[in-house]
Amino acid sequence: MHRSSKWRIGFISMLSAGVLISGVASALPSNVRIIPPGSARFLVGQKFDVRVEGRGTGPFSATIAIDGVPQEFTSGVQGSNETDEISSAGYGGFNLRGYGNDIAGTHTVTATFSDTTGSVNTQASFEIVDVSGKHRPAKNIIILLGDGMGVAHRTAARLVKYGVTEGQPNGYLAIDRLPGTGLVTTHSLNSIITDSAPGMACYATGSHSNNGQEGVNPANVINPFYQPRVEYMAEYLHRVRGTSLGLVTSADVEDATPAANAVHTGNRNAGTGVCDQYLDESDAEGTGVYGTGLTVLMGGGRRWFLPAGQFGSSRSSSTDYDNLPADLVAAWHLPSRGSLDPLFGYGNMNVALDKLAKRRDTLLPGTTTFAVDDYHAPDQPMLEEMTQSALQVLRRNERGFVLMVEGAHIDKQSHLMDADRVIDETIEFDNAVGVARQFAEEAGDTVIVVLADHECSGFSLIGALTGGIKHLRSLPPDNATIDPAVQPERQKSTVIGTYDNAAFPRYNILPDGYPETFDIDGKLLIGYGANGDRYESWLMKPLPIVDSLLPDDIKSELRAAGYSDVPYQREESRYGYFIRGQATGRDQAVHTASDIPVSAYSTGPDGPNRIYEQFYGVQTNTDVFFKLMRAALGGF
Ligand SMILES: [Zn+2]
Repeated sequence: MHRSSKWRIGFISMLSAGVLISGVASALPSNVRIIPPGSARFLVGQKFDVRVEGRGTGPFSATIAIDGVPQEFTSGVQGSNETDEISSAGYGGFNLRGYGNDIAGTHTVTATFSDTTGSVNTQASFEIVDVSGKHRPAKNIIILLGDGMGVAHRTAARLVKYGVTEGQPNGYLAIDRLPGTGLVTTHSLNSIITDSAPGMACYATGSHSNNGQEGVNPANVINPFYQPRVEYMAEYLHRVRGTSLGLVTSADVEDATPAANAVHTGNRNAGTGVCDQYLDESDAEGTGVYGTGLTVLMGGGRRWFLPAGQFGSSRSSSTDYDNLPADLVAAWHLPSRGSLDPLFGYGNMNVALDKLAKRRDTLLPGTTTFAVDDYHAPDQPMLEEMTQSALQVLRRNERGFVLMVEGAHIDKQSHLMDADRVIDETIEFDNAVGVARQFAEEAGDTVIVVLADHECSGFSLIGALTGGIKHLRSLPPDNATIDPAVQPERQKSTVIGTYDNAAFPRYNILPDGYPETFDIDGKLLIGYGANGDRYESWLMKPLPIVDSLLPDDIKSELRAAGYSDVPYQREESRYGYFIRGQATGRDQAVHTASDIPVSAYSTGPDGPNRIYEQFYGVQTNTDVFFKLMRAALGGF
């Protein structure tokens, strides 16, 4: 039954109404559908939940057959009640939890959904892809995800770190030096613009999901943790091979990108429940029958592990998850409800620029304290140090591992239109790529992909500062307000050198590998195509914006100390000129629909094999999952 896989799969969804119960008027249930939704592809044996749901007047009933073979639902109302304590009000739903199919090819699901007014027939299909083969499987998979990192972010980091002479880059980033580079689309199941939850989850499951959702398919259920699941790469490989999972992030570990490797929820903001599920489903006992094999969880987020009410705690019963449905626990072999540290900081970690200020013991211009102290986290590691530590732990598992490393603040600082903090973050992320590559060369049998989940802010390199930094500092504030009637002369906009006047910015790079300061003559200037309102000074911003993922206790302290909550508040009284946001008003810049670059590398026992070549060209984001799994299962 050898069937070569197809990367693009057609999908058929037919809804045929009819089949009236005799004598009943034709209201019929509405919104009847089969889940998983369109274009769903799964690996041979990869687990996923199947659901038939519809809206109407209960009691409800349903039947389901896959390839014509009737299947037993594992939960549902079975015609006796109006709701099953899982489905949303007004909906009936029937679940087949933990389904998997071992036969490659297209499979057809036929279902009937009935309420008191009649029945609706519906049909859908899904694709099973066989990516296994006889090649030597890649033992370790390392995904380095620069959140929000588009092409321009990479270029900016290279320009700052190495400079350019007479048109020629003076050096290349670790990312640049990976041999296989292509483009990846970034769309989610319900929009051309993704957020980080489905943006990461599509690489970890092979399925698109709706914005805000990770490791699940959309469904009308009352609790986001009850949504139909799709098995993660880490879960699949842990189950079939006994691999470990490592998650390293500069964000709060509760944030969407790390969670979208290990936590199944329809609400990325269900903080308490998200963090509990990491631990509940890590399979710390090593049974190998369920769970992610989560062994390393490193980042910020101490607030989720402190008791509610304690300083710095964000735990809340409103975002906890109740006991999961019994059939979900049984079908996924989950344990009944039951330390992973280190967590560096209460919420998101601080950004490189602010960590480096403390490490250098040099206050940023215009500040009297170190931001990391104000954040109650004076001693935070750099991303490459965390990556190194994670690899030392994970390499002990001879069966291999999946490691995801996230450079989270490339995105977060792009949202906040703080170019200097973005660029330092990108350099920090690139250092982590260098560590991963070194590991791959030493250990062999490792595949690395470096990519983003989406681009953020329409980041663009518009030119460089003319007239010098002293001249810029001497310009008076423009006293603009967000009132469009007030339009002062924009003196700060006269310093933007474009074309020839941009010349070649040249930064002083210190032994730690980062620029001494961004405020140099000829500074690289960044614009944003998806911006919110802001006051632009072109100078380094002394304080970061209050991080949205901090506990409320610390946010209050920061506001009292002069930190701002949104970019437009930041420079108003100081030096900026007002730039009106195109994408949002008084809010942050937003994600864009641009393709993002992927760069790949791979090592085998006899030197680099050529798995990385598979990442050339333009590919849809879910392809990345199938290519990585093909490497892991010997298909390349
Ligand atoms: Zn974002």
